This record gives sequence, structure tokens and C-alpha cells, in this order.
Amino acid sequence: MPAVKLNAFLCSSLLALSVAVMPTWAAAGSKPTNSVLGVLKAVPATPPGQVQPVAPNTLAAPKIPLLKLVPSIPEVRKVEYLSNGYIEVAGAVLTVAEGDRPRARALAGYAARRILATRPQLDEVDVSVYDRGSYAGFGGPLPILTASVPRLRLEEFLNWADGHGSYDRAWVNAKAPTPPIRQPDTVRELTVNFLGALADRAADAVHHTTAKVLGGVQGGLLYHGSARQPLTALTFDDAPHPMYEPLLLDLLRRADARATFFVIGRNARAYPYFVRDMAEQGHEVANHTYHHVRLPGLPIAEATAEMQEADAVLQGITGKPVRYFRPPGGDYTPATLRAAEALGLTTVFWTDDPGDFQNPGDNVLLERYTRMLRRGGIVLLHDNAPEMLQVLPAFLRLAVQHRIDLNTVGTLVAGPDALIRQTPPALPAGRGTPKPAAP
Ligand SMILES: [Zn+2]
Repeated sequence: MPAVKLNAFLCSSLLALSVAVMPTWAAAGSKPTNSVLGVLKAVPATPPGQVQPVAPNTLAAPKIPLLKLVPSIPEVRKVEYLSNGYIEVAGAVLTVAEGDRPRARALAGYAARRILATRPQLDEVDVSVYDRGSYAGFGGPLPILTASVPRLRLEEFLNWADGHGSYDRAWVNAKAPTPPIRQPDTVRELTVNFLGALADRAADAVHHTTAKVLGGVQGGLLYHGSARQPLTALTFDDAPHPMYEPLLLDLLRRADARATFFVIGRNARAYPYFVRDMAEQGHEVANHTYHHVRLPGLPIAEATAEMQEADAVLQGITGKPVRYFRPPGGDYTPATLRAAEALGLTTVFWTDDPGDFQNPGDNVLLERYTRMLRRGGIVLLHDNAPEMLQVLPAFLRLAVQHRIDLNTVGTLVAGPDALIRQTPPALPAGRGTPKPAAP
């Protein structure tokens, strides 16, 4: 039988088999109540005479409030703030002219002090100072300086900003050689897209189908873990982001949940202290390319460099080898899979994506959450989305109700016997008291 026909035959057989052996829903027979979605805000009823914009009971898209400083600081471009229901964090963007670069540290200190003084509810402010001439938003050219300033460490930060002492939650762009700037793809991971020439895909079909059916790492691929495990891997793509990262890490710490973060190398370089926080809190740091680009459009040498650069940055921060990779947009080819494997990276896909940003409504979300608690499953969420923060607390509570452990991809791969619960890390000082969400 010709190779392509043989592959097609094996594929259809394996696919039929996969229907029979794929993991069953963990939550079958144990229906959660609507109360778990109590934190989700429903859209208010539409007044008579107005067009209903979305279906009833859909989620309202969260609005990110802006903080106004009076008097204003000319270099401050915007200050956003957000709460996770427990702590509140602000993200400030400053831009300075080329001649003002030497003042960046002092300016960051002044802005942090003014922002924390303006809004007493804030637990932390994260400052990013950019060059005004080249500023192109988050994901553009690297900032000049970044800092994470918990309120309780403000004095220490101000001392550093004045040129004294050290401060371990700041990053200064040393202008060391960095990879050429590549515009990141803004795509989010929604579907797994296996691209490339038909013959190449046919040749790899058995390999992929085997990985889908058997689960675990098969030839450098991972689709799901063992259904014997009362465990779901929790994964966040596109990390880290100033403002979202401390809010997300705080929620995971309170729930004693672990996750795998698929980190963009460029963002890790500018915010290394958040990647360090992930590792110190027992999370897994994984590779999501250096610039967040779709790899199939690149020559394979450049696609490989995207993975290598991200690996180098992450290992430089955590001191640990990187083991897992997820391609941006879920787009991959046989060549990119082989390149990842040659670098020692397992390419990780997912079993479930809640699509919560689509505002599908409480009942649909509840059904999706329940389905996502699949034994041996891999759930995909995004790091820098306000909707993620809105839905995550309900998902974390549902996992506890169903006795499903949320953990890292590495723990999922290690198998049922390797599940060891660690002592949860202590909350940082000043973060132990829940407070109402921001308006
Ligand atoms: Zn991504």
C-alpha cells in the first residue's frame, strides 16, 4: 500500500479508536450549582426601546478604569488599574524624550509615589518607562526601565530611584544586543492548526494521531495526559504582563493551584521579576517564542531562533531548562515540530479552551467549565485578558468542588504517582486581607 494511503488508513483507524479511549468527563453525574458563577457580573437589563446588544445573561466585558493624576505628570501616558477581588494593581506607562533617559529612574520613583498616594486602595503599581520616539505599545520596542512596586516596598524603591541601594523588582535596559524587533502577531490561541504541504502532513498523520489517542508525550507532542489522574493542567499563554501578572499569581496562590505559563521571551526580558515570581511560587515557565509570531510563515532557521532566544532568556532568569513549548496561534508545521524537538522542547496543545472572551452567557460558561475539568486534560487561558481574571475564581472553586487538582503540564506528564502537593507559598505581607473589587 502506498505510504500516503497507508497513513490515511491508519489515521482513520486510530481516530475511530480515539473516540473509545479519550478521557471521560470528570464531572459527570455531579452537577455544580449556579452559585459558583456568583462572581460573574451579568449585563444589566436593556431598557425598553433599546436594542439588546447581546444575549441575556452574557458577561459584561470588563472595563479597565484609568487613574487621573492631579496635577498631571507630563511623562505619564496612562495609568490603568484592576482588582482580582483581593488586591488591586495599577499599570503605568511613561514615555520620555531621548534627552530625558538619564531621568528615567527618578521619574519612575516620582510617578510610583504619586500614583500610590492618589489611590489608597492600590496594593501595587507596575511602571514601564519607554522612549517616546520609538514607543509602539506593549510588545513594541523594549522599555527603558520597568519596576514592580508593592506599596509596602515603596520607600525601598524610592531610595533606589534616587540612586541609592539596590531594588530587586526593577529592570533597566542595558542596551545589550537583542534580537531584531519583529512585530508580534496579536492572534490568540483558539484552534490547533497543522499547516504545511499535504504530503508532509500526511507523512506525520500517524505520529499525531498516536499522540492524540495515547496521550502523554509521544514523539515530542503532547495533547493530553492520563485519564487516571484527577488532575487538569492549567496553562496561561502570552505571559508576563505588568498589572495582570501580580493579580493572576495572587489568585493562584490563594487557591493553592499550580500552572504552566507559556511566556513570550521579549516580555520576560523586560519583566524578569514576574517570571522569577512564577518559578518561586511553584509554577512552570515554558516557551511561547521570543516575539509571539506565527512560525509557519518564517524560514525554519528564523523559527528556530525564535524558540532558542526565548529559551535563553527564560533559563537566564530561572536557572532551569525549559521543557515545554506552545506555538503562537496554535499554528505549526512538521518542520517547526522537529525544530522544537531538536531543542529538547515538547510541543504542548490543549484539550479545552473556554472562549470566555466571547461572552457566551452564564449557563454556557458553566457547562464549558465543567467540561474543562477533564481528567488528564489541558486547559488554555490567556494571561493578559481582563475576562480571564473575571472567570478564573469561579473555575478555581469548581475544581475544588470536583476534587480535580489544577497543576502544571510537567506534573500531568509525570503521571499519577508523581503528584506531590507542596506547602503553599506564604502570602506577601499586606496581601492577606480580601477587599471588595474595584468599581
Ligand atoms: Zn499566544
